[in-house]
Amino acid sequence: MEKLRVGILGATGMVGQRFITLLANHPWFDVVSLGASSRSAGKPYLEAVKERWTMQEDIPPALSRVIVKNATDVDTLCEEVDFVFSAVDMPREAILDLEEAFARHETPVVSNNSAHRWTPDVPMLIPEINAEHIEVIPAQRKRLGTTSGFICVKPNCSIQPYVPALHALADFEPERVVVCTYQALSGAGKTLNSWPEMADNVIPFIGGEEEKSEREPHKIWGKVDQGRIVSADGPMISAQCVRVPVSDGHMAAVSVAFNRKPTIEQIREQWDAFVGSPRAVNLPYSADPFLAYSDEDDRPQTRIDRDASRGMGVTLGRLRDDPVLDYKFVALSHNTIRGAAGGSILMAELLKAEGYLNAK
Ligand code: NAP
Repeated sequence: MEKLRVGILGATGMVGQRFITLLANHPWFDVVSLGASSRSAGKPYLEAVKERWTMQEDIPPALSRVIVKNATDVDTLCEEVDFVFSAVDMPREAILDLEEAFARHETPVVSNNSAHRWTPDVPMLIPEINAEHIEVIPAQRKRLGTTSGFICVKPNCSIQPYVPALHALADFEPERVVVCTYQALSGAGKTLNSWPEMADNVIPFIGGEEEKSEREPHKIWGKVDQGRIVSADGPMISAQCVRVPVSDGHMAAVSVAFNRKPTIEQIREQWDAFVGSPRAVNLPYSADPFLAYSDEDDRPQTRIDRDASRGMGVTLGRLRDDPVLDYKFVALSHNTIRGAAGGSILMAELLKAEGYLNAK
């Protein structure tokens, strides 16, 4: 099978670097083009990331010498690629325009950015949960006047640990959720070196994160209706998002009340059996297992469990009675793999398998 030619917008950043390492040797996608800001444009990739390569893996040799382009040079990039992954850190309006410009140039955009998450005809996917939302893409193409270009987005990394765990319990109708997230430095594109204030410290504020953590699950649990996604109206979610001094991995401490209260055994059965949409299994980046429960009292732990299922899995633990709501538990997922680049790659695989991504 001929691979699709891929561009990465924001290739020099934290998420962009993760895309580069995860896509090395991908069976369906071949990274051929790299875009970043004018600070990096014109430089070979190796030079552009010289002082700030944070991945444990080396830069793939084939990309070291690729000259970085300006991510806003839409015409040139669109000539070289079949679709792009987008992870640029720019003002919201600029991202809205940039991603739409690629889509209008018949170059699909699979995005990590939040800008288009609330555009009603843009699907926001966790493929195991709401793969069927891709069926809104024809309506989006009609609005954009394209035959193949469209935008598809990934939700915020903070919701990746707890939304799959709650989704698996949908039969019991979760009604109220209180969640506190403990989020890694890489979620801000940073390390302890670049953010020394975080050493020996916890900061109880991440701009905009609590709103995203409370609202985005409702779009994911929504329905496609007449060319747009209509959000679900529950469960009610209250979130507090806290930055902690770990490199990678977002943890969530969750309390939940149900409309139809299950037993602890029923919850465990649902989690153990949960696979999610059959459309999202057997793709190259599918998680296997997607949800894994750890019985030890002190798990999940960020450093030990974040790489479960190649960083695509969610590890759960500490399920017990809650004296205020019904039950409480802890959930963990890798923020730059499942929560960013890996989650986007899985989305792109789903879109390719379903015929939405093709060679030009
Ligand atoms: P980052 O490390 O700061 O990287 C930002 C990237 O955007 C760099 O490649 C940068 O290029 C490029 N860029 C900045 N200004 C630009 C401009 N004016 N024109 C073109 N390119 C520009 O950020 P990040 O953590 O990778 O995050 C990237 C995006 O993904 C953000 O929107 C973020 O919210 C989202 N996201 C991040 C995570 C995570 O876990 N980190 C998770 C989900 C979503 P230069 O190197 O040339 O400056």
